[in-house]
Amino acid sequence: MAVPRTRTSVSRRNNRRSHHAKKPKNVGKCSNCSGSCLPHKLCMHCGFYSGRLVIHEKKDAE
Ligand SMILES: [Zn+2]
Repeated sequence: MAVPRTRTSVSRRNNRRSHHAKKPKNVGKCSNCSGSCLPHKLCMHCGFYSGRLVIHEKKDAE
């Protein structure tokens, strides 16, 4: 197993991790209800995807 010859300094370690920050999610807009929804996912408010109804709303809980 390869063993590091020198210890990574705090500065170098933090500098490496400076690119690890999480980016905000890209949120799209629903074409049907104009609510916010994720791209390539059906709308969780109205159940539409690419202009057609994919899942129907639950009427009663059984
Ligand atoms: Zn919608």
